[in-house]
Amino acid sequence: MPTEQDTVGKKKKKYSYKVHLIPKNCKGCGICVEFCAAKILAIDESKGIVKVIPDAKCTGCMLCDLRCPDFAIQIERIPAKETDEAPPGSPA
Ligand code: SF4
Ligand code: SF4
Repeated sequence: MPTEQDTVGKKKKKYSYKVHLIPKNCKGCGICVEFCAAKILAIDESKGIVKVIPDAKCTGCMLCDLRCPDFAIQIERIPAKETDEAPPGSPA
């Protein structure tokens, strides 16, 4: 399971995450919505499928991707930037 930060030596590599929906596979069951702790997924009642709330930030937890029974949602991990060692007090 990818994490928000992977450590390579003393460098921290940061990622952003993009949600990809496959509308033809989605049956609107809402399982992904229930598992998304970041609350960026919702059911579009007019279409009967899931939608991503604009400007919301995916944390890359992958739960939607793993729990969707119809393989209708996938998460893409995108390298954002490399930074030097994390500042003191930040999570390892
Ligand atoms: S779990 Fe899958 S099928 Fe169910 S609403 Fe989410 S994307 Fe659609
Ligand atoms: S990866 Fe996690 S935070 Fe991102 S949309 Fe899926 S459940 Fe929500």
